[in-house]
Amino acid sequence: MIIAGPCSVESPEQIASVAEGLKSLGVSCLRGGVWKPRTHPGAFEGIGEPALPWLVEAGHSRGLSVATEVASTRHVEAALKAGVDVLWIGARTTGNPFLVEDICSVLRGVEDVDVWVKNPLNPDPELWIGALERFIRAGISRLGGIHRGFSVYHPSRYRNVPMWQVPAEIRRVIPGMPLICDPSHICGDASLVPEVALKAMEFGFDGLMIETHPNPARALSDAAQQLTVAQLAELLGKLKVRKQDSQPNDKIEMLRSQIDQLDDSIIDLISERLDIASEIGEIKSVEGIAVFQPERWEQVVSRVETRAADRGVSTGFISGLYRLIHQESIKRQM
Ligand code: PEP
Ligand code: MN
Repeated sequence: MIIAGPCSVESPEQIASVAEGLKSLGVSCLRGGVWKPRTHPGAFEGIGEPALPWLVEAGHSRGLSVATEVASTRHVEAALKAGVDVLWIGARTTGNPFLVEDICSVLRGVEDVDVWVKNPLNPDPELWIGALERFIRAGISRLGGIHRGFSVYHPSRYRNVPMWQVPAEIRRVIPGMPLICDPSHICGDASLVPEVALKAMEFGFDGLMIETHPNPARALSDAAQQLTVAQLAELLGKLKVRKQDSQPNDKIEMLRSQIDQLDDSIIDLISERLDIASEIGEIKSVEGIAVFQPERWEQVVSRVETRAADRGVSTGFISGLYRLIHQESIKRQM
């Protein structure tokens, strides 16, 4: 199952041009956001209702089903009326039970629609499961989940860190429900999309949702993460090769990916810590303060040992590790 298309429907020509490119790639469904949830006011918030017929015409005239994001009862009614086949619930909506319940109330009894529920922004499997349960109760039989990563405060290689254990939990609790991965919103960067897409397929996801735009650099939303149709074609070619010749142990792969992610965060945090040490070094130098301050070092060791003990980590290991980190900080200040 491959859903592809632009982050936002921008014009009839733009959506038709992507649809034309996707037609021959084995993509089954054309996506396009019509109402866009934006972080800041004043950003492009989607064309709104007038874009629905552009999306439907671009897809249906080329044998593709079409998908758009809905976040309110008004969106659902307009999308269904325009002939949209597939609705997805965005990450910001999934985490809001009031909105999900409202959307379910207008979907009750609607048979001819697929609903894909993206994970909420925060890595809470229960919140995602709760939203899925509401759709199940509303009688939506063609229901799936979309893993699009989770928002974190610390610096990360990803726009939304994958935390693969969360979709694994959804698989465990709702077995048999299709789960696809959206590497575009996980990565936030087109150059990382292929590697995450391949990993998702190795983990046994049932498909992908990939943002694809005729001219990503000029996209009105999510410009950095969208692929061109040619890049998507190259990626889909690689997926087929991988699928045939690798049968990794899903559980180990998933855990290893968690470790890789934590290692990235550890390095990001160390880098941040060293930058602060350099800043302190400049102040020490201006004010003529000695670089090595034994009492401060004692204080640091005692703090981290206490924390390590609380977390069940060997204090000897942590003080050894901090000796190295401290030496590197001192080096930065020399
Ligand atoms: C999108 O698919 O363009 C989108 C806004 O997704 P998410 O809800 O995952 O941020
Ligand atoms: Mn987007």
